[in-house]
Amino acid sequence: MSVFEHPSFDDHEKVLFATDKDTGLRAIISVHSTARGPSCGGCRFWSYETSEAALNDALRLSQGMSYKNVMADLPIGGGKSVIMKPEGSFDREALFRAFGRAVDSLNGNYITAEDVGVNPADMVSVSQSTKYVTGLPEGKAASGDPSPITAEGVFRGIRACAKRAGFSDLKGVRIAIQGAAGHVGSYLSGHLAKAGAELIIADINDEGLKALNEKYGARIVDKDSIYDQDVDVFAPCALGSVINPQTIDRIKAKVVAGAANNQLATRDMGAALQARGILYAPDYVINAGGIINVMGEILGDFDPAWVQGKLEALEATLGEILDRADSGGRPANVIADEMARARIEEARALKT
Ligand code: NAD
Repeated sequence: MSVFEHPSFDDHEKVLFATDKDTGLRAIISVHSTARGPSCGGCRFWSYETSEAALNDALRLSQGMSYKNVMADLPIGGGKSVIMKPEGSFDREALFRAFGRAVDSLNGNYITAEDVGVNPADMVSVSQSTKYVTGLPEGKAASGDPSPITAEGVFRGIRACAKRAGFSDLKGVRIAIQGAAGHVGSYLSGHLAKAGAELIIADINDEGLKALNEKYGARIVDKDSIYDQDVDVFAPCALGSVINPQTIDRIKAKVVAGAANNQLATRDMGAALQARGILYAPDYVINAGGIINVMGEILGDFDPAWVQGKLEALEATLGEILDRADSGGRPANVIADEMARARIEEARALKT
């Protein structure tokens, strides 16, 4: 398995392969950049088929965290970790304690939190071995579930994009939400319904959909037909890679803006959306509410006013990206990547 030659390797500062024989731990901690501060990003616990797949996730996701954190103007860098779920039975608490020891060995270069497959109780286990952990359920600065703040940021992003697409407000604007019953999706549905939008929703959680239908009059559609809906906005809030060659021509919306990470299957999907006249809000810009929330915990004093200020700043950054996309005729995702890279490079140059 190559690392430096890996297609997802982007001059990552450190990649740590951690094992622990007693607990069966096999983890990869990827520190993309600490130019702006300690690298932060969640830990993913997943049944990876191969260590190659785990490495790819760690490299890609940690780069994404660098971009997300810098675009939200947070004093942290980008990192991410993955734990390969052991086959058969294992002691979960001991496994996460062993992972905590690996995190601790980086001396604060990486601060961990929850990601897919990890819950606050796991972070409590991690905290027995290291102080470089957030997302704890209790404590002076515990920030709790980040989803409401993420949803608020995404709501602001959708509202700003809809305005650019010619809607003075969200009254009567038709919005398709993929993953509407999820943590972010359900809070987002609430914001959008309150603003008067007409909701079309899909999920694999039927109970959750039913509740949203009863609460907001949202129309439920089959999960596979969510792409085909005659809507103004498509909000992916479930999976990554949903904008791909198989789906792009089915999307009738004028705007794609949602919470899901890595919505574009490949970078050139951004240009493909633009060529079809569809406005795209770069995912890591509008879904940064969660990490902003966690930052409150890292700073040790959770201040809602500071969080609100950061959400307003996100909206301004999105505006700057879309302005540049408009005037230069270049895709919003490419412009966002360039801005993120330039800001990281600036911080790196100042540091060295
Ligand atoms: P979640 O697991 O609570 O919600 C995802 C929802 O998608 C679930 O209701 C699930 O049933 C549904 N789903 C799964 N497969 C589906 C399919 N094929 N079609 C339709 N629906 C499907 O997760 P979440 O925390 O709400 O996060 C949603 C997305 O936003 C993820 O991509 C996540 O990485 C991203 N994100 C979340 C946060 C946060 O604060 N929670 C922050 C940034 C980014």
